[in-house]
Amino acid sequence: MVSLLKNYNHLKNEYENYQKLAEETIQKQSMKITELDKKLDMLSLIVEISEYINKSLGNSEIAAMINDIMIGILGVTYSSVYLVENRKLRLKASNLSNTKHHQIVEVFNCKNVANLNTSLLNSVSSISTDSNVKIHSSITMPIYMKGDILGLIIVEHNIYNYLSQDHVRLLTALTNQIAICLENNRLYNQIKQNSQKDCLTGLFNRKYFFSIIQKKIANNEKDFAIVMLDIDNFKKCNDTYGHLYGDVVIRRISQIVKSNIRKEDIVARYGGEELIIYMYDVKNVIDVYNRMEQVREVIERTVIQYKDVNDGVTVSVGIALKEKEEDLEQIIRKADKNLYTAKHLGKNKVVY
Ligand code: GH3
Ligand code: MG
Ligand code: MG
Repeated sequence: MVSLLKNYNHLKNEYENYQKLAEETIQKQSMKITELDKKLDMLSLIVEISEYINKSLGNSEIAAMINDIMIGILGVTYSSVYLVENRKLRLKASNLSNTKHHQIVEVFNCKNVANLNTSLLNSVSSISTDSNVKIHSSITMPIYMKGDILGLIIVEHNIYNYLSQDHVRLLTALTNQIAICLENNRLYNQIKQNSQKDCLTGLFNRKYFFSIIQKKIANNEKDFAIVMLDIDNFKKCNDTYGHLYGDVVIRRISQIVKSNIRKEDIVARYGGEELIIYMYDVKNVIDVYNRMEQVREVIERTVIQYKDVNDGVTVSVGIALKEKEEDLEQIIRKADKNLYTAKHLGKNKVVY
């Protein structure tokens, strides 16, 4: 009887041990599943976010979008996004009115720091310098792309210990995606700009000029003028001083024209040494004439220096005002005809 009881107790003990082990294993597995679920959630979140940002390629509001994402996903009170421009961190989006306590930005900008580290800070006393704003928890996360700093994200919360290493991990994964999105955005903008601009002068190219003007005409924009400008005796200039000097002349004339017309007027390189200008909302042809006569005079007075050459050029200009029912081709033809007349009248003239 005693030995039976002993056996029973032994079996009971063993059974209980197995049960405990099984329960522990189940608990461990379920913790692992939760952990995997969390990771899966994080991954799909990251994929979703990068898809969302990539859809807005070329959008200048990309920093504001990133900022909104930070607030929405991390549930932080404040978020600030800085992007590097000319080697300096510039605040691009924030819902904070005062970011003075982001001293890391000042240090980076003043001392040309090469590396920024991620930091998690929880502080009983407020981190903010603004007494109206309470910040007790923050993460500073640099955005890196192939070792270069593209920007910095600072997320902050008013609750002490709100942000943890888990948030750092999520933010790190998000920031890697954001870096790719920012780089894509930069490349997209660069390609877009290259396809619109003439590489010698930096002015718009002819194709892009036409596309903007056609849009303006389709929108029934107010009266405008088309101006054609051509450098006089440019072949001789090239023959005398060489092609490189010729290039310098085209570039300089382009700069002079651009800086002597209104910001809203549009100038493009029409061809070799010829520029085309769209002047918006002009009062009358005399108004355009006066503006272009001023440009002509500035060019006539300018000495263009390159290596040991100091010389200048003149330009001839033809103007055409848009008359009712005329299409762009007809207006350009009219301006071209006036340019031709200016050449025949002895060059260095403005004709309308
Ligand atoms: P006009 O006073 O009648 O306008 O005579 P022009 O010599 O200025 O005009 P022409 O059309 O005879 O010559 C224009 C020259 O511009 C010929 C071409 O080799 C030169 N050219 C065109 N594009 C460029 C360029 O990008 N760089 C340089 N350096 N020369 C160019
Ligand atoms: Mg010419
Ligand atoms: Mg020409």
